[in-house]
Amino acid sequence: MPSSVELKDFAASKKMRGVMGQYFMEMMGPEAADKKIAWCTSVGPAELLRALGFEVYFPENHGAMLGATRMATDLIPEANARGFSPDICSYLTSDIGSYLKGESPFNKMKLPGPPKADVLVFNTNQCRDVKDWFGFYAREWDVPCIGVHTPRAIGEVDDAIITSVAKQIEALVAPLEEISGEKLDLDKLKEVITLSRRCTELWKAVLETAANAPSPITFFDGTIQMGPAVVLRGAQEAIDYYEILLAELKQRIADGVGAVDGEKHRIYWEGMPIWGKLKNLALQFMELKTAVVASTYCNSWVFEALDPDKPFEGMARAYSEIFICRSDGPKEAYMERMIEKFKADGVFYHNAKTCPNNSNSSYDMPQRLQGKTGKPFVIVDGDLNDLRLYSEEQTRTNIEAFIEQLSQD
Ligand code: SF4
Repeated sequence: MPSSVELKDFAASKKMRGVMGQYFMEMMGPEAADKKIAWCTSVGPAELLRALGFEVYFPENHGAMLGATRMATDLIPEANARGFSPDICSYLTSDIGSYLKGESPFNKMKLPGPPKADVLVFNTNQCRDVKDWFGFYAREWDVPCIGVHTPRAIGEVDDAIITSVAKQIEALVAPLEEISGEKLDLDKLKEVITLSRRCTELWKAVLETAANAPSPITFFDGTIQMGPAVVLRGAQEAIDYYEILLAELKQRIADGVGAVDGEKHRIYWEGMPIWGKLKNLALQFMELKTAVVASTYCNSWVFEALDPDKPFEGMARAYSEIFICRSDGPKEAYMERMIEKFKADGVFYHNAKTCPNNSNSSYDMPQRLQGKTGKPFVIVDGDLNDLRLYSEEQTRTNIEAFIEQLSQD
C-alpha cells in the first residue's frame, strides 16, 4: 500500500553522497593500487592507522550496505554453507557471503568490491565476532590479524582498564610500522586525533538538534547521515560535511520545520537498525506522527575522551567507554539521561537475533527503566541484516499498538 507521507531528505545529503563516493573511490578505485589498506572494526584504532598512512576500511559499513540493499538475504546462506552459523552476526555472514559469491553493492558504483587488506585490526570492545570475522580474511589472504582485547560488561572504566588498553594500542605500533613502511609521527597522530575529536563534537551536535521539538532529524536519517562519522573520523572531509549538515538542521529549527510533520510522539530507539526495512519503518512512524528522536546506535560514534595531548590514553578511554562494552548499570544510567534529554515518551527495543551484543531487552532493562522513568516500551524481535528473523506484519501491529498506548497516556 503506498504511504500517505514522504520522507524529507536534507539538501546536504547530496554532498554526503559525494564525500562517501570519493572515500570509496580512493579505497577501491584505480589510484588505490599502491596504497596500504587496513581493515578496522568500527571502534578500533582508526586514528592510529590513519596516522601511519593506511587507507582505513570499515567492513561493518559494507555489512550495513548489504543489509540496506537487502543483498544480505541471498548472501548469508553462502556463508552458512561455508560453516558460519545462521545464529552469529549477520554483518559477518553477509560480508563473508558477499566475498564468497563475489557480489557487493560497490559493484553498482563500478568498483570491484571491498579492498584486500594488508592488515586487519580489531578491537573486541563490541564483540568477539569481529575477531573471528577478520580471522577468516587473514587466513584467506595470509595477512596479519592483530588487535586490542578490551574487556566487556565494564562497570567503571578505571585506570587498570585504560592502562591495559592503551598498552595494547601502543603494542600495535611496531607491527603496523613494519606493514605500512612508515614510522609513527606523534605530531601526525595528534593531528588526526584532533580531527577525530572535532568530528565527534560535530556529530554529537547534529544528534543533539533532535532534543528540539519538533525534531529536525530522526534516527532513520541518522543511520544514513552517520556515514562520514563512521568511515572518515580523523579526516577533514567529515568535519566539513557535518558543519554543512548542522547549519541545515539549525535552519530547520529556526523555521520550525520538523522531520515529522505534526510531531505528536517522541521515541528512543535502543539496538541496531533493521537495515533492510529502514524506509518502511521511517514511513510508518511518520504516518503515526512519531519522531524517533534518539538512539544508542547513532550515539555510539561519539568519542569525547579522545585527547591529542594523551593520544594512547585518550584512545583507550574513548574506545572503552562506549555503551556496548559496559555493564547494565552504566547502560541504564545512560539511557535514563538520554530519555530525559530528548524528551522521549517511550522506548523501542530492537532485539536483534544475531547480535545479542547490541540487544538490551533480555535482562530486565526495559522493565527497570520503565520503573524509573515511567516511560512505556515495546520490544520487537528482528535483525540487523537477516530478514528471515523479522516479521513485517507483526512489527507493524506492535508499533501501532505501542503508539496507540502513548496516545492514551
Ligand atoms: S556488535 Fe553485533 S553487529 Fe556489530 S560486529 Fe559484533 S555481532 Fe556484528
